[in-house]
Amino acid sequence: MENINEVKSLLAVPKDIVITTHRNPDGDAIGASLGLKHYLDSLGHTVKVAVPSESPNFLNWMPGANDILIYDLHQEDVKRVLEKPDIVFCLDFNSLERIDKMGELIAPLKAKKILIDHHLYPEPFYDYDLHDTTASSTSELVYDFICLLGDKNKITPTIGDCLYTGILTDTGSFKYSTSPKVFRLAADLLELGVDDVHIQNLVFNSLDEKHLRLIGLVLHERMEVLDEFRTAIITLSKQDYERFHISRGDTEGLVNYLLQLKNVTMAVFIHEQPTITKISLRSKGDFSVQEIARKHFKGGGHKNASGGYSFIGLRPTVSKFKQILPEYQEALLNNDQ
Ligand code: 5GP
Ligand code: MN
Repeated sequence: MENINEVKSLLAVPKDIVITTHRNPDGDAIGASLGLKHYLDSLGHTVKVAVPSESPNFLNWMPGANDILIYDLHQEDVKRVLEKPDIVFCLDFNSLERIDKMGELIAPLKAKKILIDHHLYPEPFYDYDLHDTTASSTSELVYDFICLLGDKNKITPTIGDCLYTGILTDTGSFKYSTSPKVFRLAADLLELGVDDVHIQNLVFNSLDEKHLRLIGLVLHERMEVLDEFRTAIITLSKQDYERFHISRGDTEGLVNYLLQLKNVTMAVFIHEQPTITKISLRSKGDFSVQEIARKHFKGGGHKNASGGYSFIGLRPTVSKFKQILPEYQEALLNNDQ
């Protein structure tokens, strides 16, 4: 981050601060936001976390999660905190379009906007940034941010729990985007007192019976494996959501199961939401799904994890996806894993 000293002096006196993150916030989005909130609280600032939509229930245990304002549920409260904050932190997203209507509220603000993010190709809507696409997670960058401000000793176990959760979820339990640095950082957090096994259980081993059966059902009934493209797809329609009693959050992480297939290079989850059809893409090795998300589905993300959407409905989206596969066939087949 250039101008760290300017940011430091901005934070030298108590400020009204809003922290926001992308719609459908995941473990990294919530972990980074709450970790940063607890740090800024400790400096004496007034801090609100406001996000566009709900996060999955398995994150509810996180300290401060209950105080998060959700635009979909608390529109007036979110508008009020966004009236004239001094600083807005934008975490784990790279374009204001990723925060829906909240983007329109934030764009014209006089507040200093600080981006902390690890997605490819950020749009220049911010005043300061800590941006690194090689970082495992935004939570890792929040840790770096606090250290850059010279406050490593202010990282409490509570902050550690939040940041560890973000790193854990965005690396798929240290399976992707790993680096010597992220393992060192995890070791630092464990030394602080973070209970990694406990967090692992809270995040990944907290399904109810219905949910685990649902995953089995969906894998059995809705998975398609296209061997000739080393690609596997799960498709869910609006009717499936009703028939199988699927609720929002139940499908979190579903796409990753497909990566467990030996020969699969690309995993795809296409599902109908009330107004859009959402597509989630994952890959192994050097095959980049970012380009597919960006070029064909108005989205983006990372090399191995991207997403996008369409307005043409489920079946046409699946057909469109299958039509573009031949363009990538050679790269899919030649991918070293
Ligand atoms: P997921 O498949 O879990 O929704 O998202 C995977 C990755 O792709 C995340 O890093 C996320 O930020 C990015 N992503 C998902 N949906 C979109 C989208 O609609 N637009 C952009 N630009 N990125 C997305
Ligand atoms: Mn992230």
